Amino acid sequence: MKGGFCPKCDDYSFDLNKHTCPPAYEVIFYDSGEGWEDAQTVYADSHEKAAEKATDIANCRDAEYSTREKVCVRKVGESEVKVFTVYVDFVPEYKADADVESEVTP
Ligand SMILES: [Zn+2]
Repeated sequence: MKGGFCPKCDDYSFDLNKHTCPPAYEVIFYDSGEGWEDAQTVYADSHEKAAEKATDIANCRDAEYSTREKVCVRKVGESEVKVFTVYVDFVPEYKADADVESEVTP
């Protein structure tokens, strides 16, 4: 079997036959007024990673890009809830456009 993205957890694996999905977590966006009935399920290795992954998915899906999100996370099957503020860092991108008619004389 070849590598690829797992259809369940969306993680990349070099061999999907040997792949095991990380545990499932339920995540809600507190500032959006979501309750547990609105929770989305993500697969991650920790509460923190689940909070980050859910925010990333939401930012890819929604037109309004969030840079700071208050999220509540609980592992499926457990009652303990952890609350996080997820900050999004932007990676700067540089692009040089050549001046066709430049007033700069080197
Ligand atoms: Zn998986």
